[in-house]
Amino acid sequence: MSTAKIVVIEDESDILELLEYNLSKEGYRVASARDGEDGLRKVRKEAPDLVLLDLMLPGLDGIELCRRLKSDPLTRSTPVMMVTAKGEESDVVLGLGVGADDYVTKPFSPKELLARVKAVLRRGPLKEERNGKERIAREGIVIDAGRHEVKIDGEPVPFTATEFRLLHFLAAHAGRVFTRDQLLGHVVRGDAFVIDRNIDVHIRAIRKKLGPHRETIETIRGVGYRFKDGGE
Ligand code: CA
Repeated sequence: MSTAKIVVIEDESDILELLEYNLSKEGYRVASARDGEDGLRKVRKEAPDLVLLDLMLPGLDGIELCRRLKSDPLTRSTPVMMVTAKGEESDVVLGLGVGADDYVTKPFSPKELLARVKAVLRRGPLKEERNGKERIAREGIVIDAGRHEVKIDGEPVPFTATEFRLLHFLAAHAGRVFTRDQLLGHVVRGDAFVIDRNIDVHIRAIRKKLGPHRETIETIRGVGYRFKDGGE
């Protein structure tokens, strides 16, 4: 049983009850709020391990609330999982753009939701230093940041600087979805010489080089890309 604390911010009573019931049953301590302002207060007061955030809320909406949480040093590292209406891909892109860590779409099964919650909690609070992780090994893919080297099934494979940065960034944050803009922002920040600003082109090249492990980088339709989380 987990004793992690979760703040749920949701204005629809039946969804809120469904979330409270399933999370409590799993042993999580749950605090809930039905609007954005109260949600913000609860997160500051409770310092939870995770925030489940509905996007369409009365008053302060989910996007604005997420933006505030992520710009406040007190709450910045608290993972936020958005709960969005199905098919609202633009909401997902917006949410990830303001720093949300993951999302689930309604309607969700309790089983799916709990698996996602567990995965986000396992990753723990966001740590910037994860970026600097020296060596990442995952199912035949070894990324060595110190040597700037990638080995696929034991064989070194040459990656361009941009491809390497992109692969390393995705792998260091396995399980998280990033939008193309976020990925571009990351690769451009460190390297003024990114020749092609089209992330899809770089991803295609990386996948080709990953060969049999190409599916480790998943396309999240309408949203972006994710390096498969190996923990399940
Ligand atoms: Ca709502």
